[in-house]
Amino acid sequence: MSYAIPILFVLLLIALYYFIDREIYFYEGMRLGPRLQRWLYDRWAADYDKGKQASQAEDESMLARPILEKLADLPEPLILDLATGTGRLGLTLSCQPNFGGKIIALDISRKMLQIAARKLSLFRGQIDLIQYLTLPLPFPDESFDAVCCLEALEVMPEMEEPLSELYRVLRPGGLLVTSRGTEASGRKAKIRSTENFSQLLRRFGFEQVEITAWWKYFDRVFAQKPGNAPPVGQHNLFGLLRCKACDKIGWQENPKEVLCRSCGTTYVYSNEKILIFEIDRKE
Ligand SMILES: [Zn+2]
Repeated sequence: MSYAIPILFVLLLIALYYFIDREIYFYEGMRLGPRLQRWLYDRWAADYDKGKQASQAEDESMLARPILEKLADLPEPLILDLATGTGRLGLTLSCQPNFGGKIIALDISRKMLQIAARKLSLFRGQIDLIQYLTLPLPFPDESFDAVCCLEALEVMPEMEEPLSELYRVLRPGGLLVTSRGTEASGRKAKIRSTENFSQLLRRFGFEQVEITAWWKYFDRVFAQKPGNAPPVGQHNLFGLLRCKACDKIGWQENPKEVLCRSCGTTYVYSNEKILIFEIDRKE
């Protein structure tokens, strides 16, 4: 009986190790709620790019150029970047001399967005940074010429809502840019095989799915929304953004905050000009 307590202690340590390894490092906190996940990304933000160097080295050839080729008919595409992280997509697109579009970039982590703001300081006229915690997306249907969500679907609680939201806000004929966790990424490969991933996207309505080997842990995925609507004309964020409190579009823009004209809710900018698009509610 005298061994019971030490054995229990060891078992608890093992359980804790597996919990941390699986829930924190593997699933990146996605099953622990958005606030805890945000807290984790805030902790990881400073070193985040170090772990991505292998894939980021190819961002120009694997992302920027092929995306701009697919958007070649649009001199000023409006692009949504969901889960922008440290702003890799915005950076590689903005560095292309022929990019004349605008990017609206969302992430849950303020610290990630602060790094994005530093990296993108020369391009802030082309990029809006928004801290936003949970879906649905605060935009009307068919608001964007392209929607992107890179290396992030697998660390969202489920893929259905992000995919249906990306489809909803993309205009007919628009481009989806996303990724699939490979088998080498282990449990992150929620959708095993490229064929299954392609079927998943088709189930949400996308077509012309192209899946290309990218780097060890992710394949690059392009797809189109069927149809052929004209390019999105509205490039001002506040012509598209729906108030989180009342769902209306209509803003009074001030230097440090924006005010919803319908319900009076105020959303502030951080010092880095990140729009903190959250309502402080006791939940
Ligand atoms: Zn409102």
